[in-house]
Amino acid sequence: MGASLGAGAIRELAARVGIIPTKKLGQNFVIDPNTVRYIVEQSKIDSHSAVVEVGPGLGSLTLRLLEVAEHVSAIEIDPRLADQLPITVKERCPELLGKLSVLNQDAMQVESGELIPAPTALIANLPYNVAVPVLLHFLAEFPTLTSVLVMVQKEVADRLCAGPGSRTYGIPSVKIQWFGKAEAAGNIGKNVFWPAPNVDSGLVRIHVTHPHSHIEEDRREVFQVIDAAFAHRRKTLRAGLADFIGSAPLAEQVLIQADIDPGTRAETLELESFILLSGAIKAQRLSSQ
Ligand code: SAM
Repeated sequence: MGASLGAGAIRELAARVGIIPTKKLGQNFVIDPNTVRYIVEQSKIDSHSAVVEVGPGLGSLTLRLLEVAEHVSAIEIDPRLADQLPITVKERCPELLGKLSVLNQDAMQVESGELIPAPTALIANLPYNVAVPVLLHFLAEFPTLTSVLVMVQKEVADRLCAGPGSRTYGIPSVKIQWFGKAEAAGNIGKNVFWPAPNVDSGLVRIHVTHPHSHIEEDRREVFQVIDAAFAHRRKTLRAGLADFIGSAPLAEQVLIQADIDPGTRAETLELESFILLSGAIKAQRLSSQ
């Protein structure tokens, strides 16, 4: 038996553990060894990398990651898949078993101390319904991550990589800038999965540099401002932020203080502007106490 899992092996494993893939958990398993090889190649990991993989599923990506990396921590919410993973590795590549840790947990609940060694790379075919929250959670929780390569729904990949002013620029595009720079790393068709999803997929690479680590504003506060600003996409910021800040005149005053035109819309602003805005809102709230 080899490291790669093709369509037959995936179906056989699924039957063995009694898995009927569910949409709720985004269970679309990669059945094409070339796609797995391409993902690992694009991730640029090496024998020093401590990888965290979210949602290993039946293990097609995990097996290849184990061949290349120093260690792989795999976090899987479905207990049947989490239990089967070490068995699959032991059956196919017993020499790699010592490099694997499996956590049967919701990835959104995983905290920094729980992964040993601390991960340097996040590589995953993410469950599509929670892809962005999981990605942002890991970037915030694990400052040791220096590189990320994830497969997500194509529409989400476009959003993550979009720049201000583009049609797809939105909340994920701004928040990801807190951690680094996202770039597209290839498109993936539907037929490399079982079952085939309804949508195309895209690979996204994130160069994690923490470009804003020197600033004092709190990430959670800045993210709240981003959420509020995009809640009314079609409105100007003066109108859209009126409730969040207290009133339209107050919103106008705070926007001017942050050097933002009150007549502009959220989708034209870089993260820097939201950081300035968050600071101005905080100062305004303190002065009115
Ligand atoms: N990596 C595998 C592959 O490429 O074949 C499976 C990818 S599949 C798109 C997503 C996997 O994430 C499934 O195994 C699913 O059970 C798991 N999953 C879904 N939600 C999760 C969560 N909140 N935390 C951890 N794993 C989750």
